[in-house]
Amino acid sequence: MKRCATAILLALVFAGCGSSATESAERPALARAAAPPVPILLYHHIADPPPGERNASLWTTRARFSQQLTALQRAGFHAVTLDRVWRAWHGGPKLPSKPVVISFDDGFAEQDAIARPALARRGWRGVLNLQLNHLNIPGGLSRAAIGRFVDAGWEVDDHSATHPDLTKISGAQLRAEITGSRATFRAQLGIDPKYFCYPYGKVNARVRAAVRAAGFKAATTILPGRATVADDPMMLPRIIVRRSTTPAGLVRLASRG
Ligand SMILES: [Zn+2]
Repeated sequence: MKRCATAILLALVFAGCGSSATESAERPALARAAAPPVPILLYHHIADPPPGERNASLWTTRARFSQQLTALQRAGFHAVTLDRVWRAWHGGPKLPSKPVVISFDDGFAEQDAIARPALARRGWRGVLNLQLNHLNIPGGLSRAAIGRFVDAGWEVDDHSATHPDLTKISGAQLRAEITGSRATFRAQLGIDPKYFCYPYGKVNARVRAAVRAAGFKAATTILPGRATVADDPMMLPRIIVRRSTTPAGLVRLASRG
């Protein structure tokens, strides 16, 4: 199974990514001044890594995951979707006093079996960044599982069709992985994803332009830090939760970026 080796492939190939004047004008100055930074957490597997797993740092045990959610809750955090943040940034309803976006990449079975119920018990909503080739495969997610996420109020975002390094593929392949995957989300899942998540966090000016042209409102990366309304919306940072991240450490990262 293809795994999101974000921790290893941190190198970001990017140039000329500044927001255009039009995009900046879309963001109300008032909201920009008032909105606090929002931590967007990034999880992969919620399980013990198998022996010899090369990307063991991207596996969080079930017990540690539960402890992290409890620590966030005790610190006053409340998990919301990225779309809720986006709407608050653009004149919509206010966010909770300490919002956090908890995102899960790729689409693994335990994200349905463990993460979804764990967030539901707290009255929280998460974000699933789904790569389409994880649908209906062993260890991936079934269409019924995707329905359970939607019913629980989760946001399901586009993490490409086959999870390639988008900076290294042809124009036709790029369209298939971005515009094509969005069309497949609509046709096969009845979901119209509004946000894109770059596989491996890999993005350059060409990839950014393709995601923007496909109609996505914003996109998430693996640049470190908390997201703000002043960020380039196609380059939102995220906080990678690693196997070594303690509950207290995660609260610190969510609080200070
Ligand atoms: Zn991924």
